[in-house]
Amino acid sequence: MNPRCTRGLGLGLVLVLTGCGSEEPIGLDLHGWGAEDADQILTAAAEWNQALDADVLVTGDEVQVLPRDDSGWVRELSDSLAGGFSVGVYLSDPPTVFLWRDVIDEHQYDLSYVAAHELGHLLGLDHLKSGVMFAGTQPGVMFECIDGVAVDAACGFVECGPEAGSTCLEDQP
Ligand SMILES: [Zn+2]
Repeated sequence: MNPRCTRGLGLGLVLVLTGCGSEEPIGLDLHGWGAEDADQILTAAAEWNQALDADVLVTGDEVQVLPRDDSGWVRELSDSLAGGFSVGVYLSDPPTVFLWRDVIDEHQYDLSYVAAHELGHLLGLDHLKSGVMFAGTQPGVMFECIDGVAVDAACGFVECGPEAGSTCLEDQP
């Protein structure tokens, strides 16, 4: 899959999809993160890969995953997991994931959860009514799994393996 062939914008907008079908993995550039934080982001990527039964998200240099952005304009954008403030956002041009590390900590969000949500946008998903792509996850909820609805949606954008399916032990509400 080619990240330049972007299918979703993490702001509730959906781009027209054409010519996307490559099975190339998406390389995540995690420079700027400490080892512990990078591990949490890679945990989210690994969970997606397991759920999709494909190595879709790998380390690389195609998509920057940034701890924050101080330029102001990007901070105005909202992909709130709670409402009222941003903890992360995905921008499609160029494909970039911003994770507000300080706000995530301040409001007791789980970095791996926010990363999994924004990586879902990177894969092409819009918000869903439940599961990892739900936009109303509360502080303190720890990331556990990728739900089946999100997997089904993602497999419409990327090439999933035959064993693709939810990594949740039980159905998510
Ligand atoms: Zn979102």
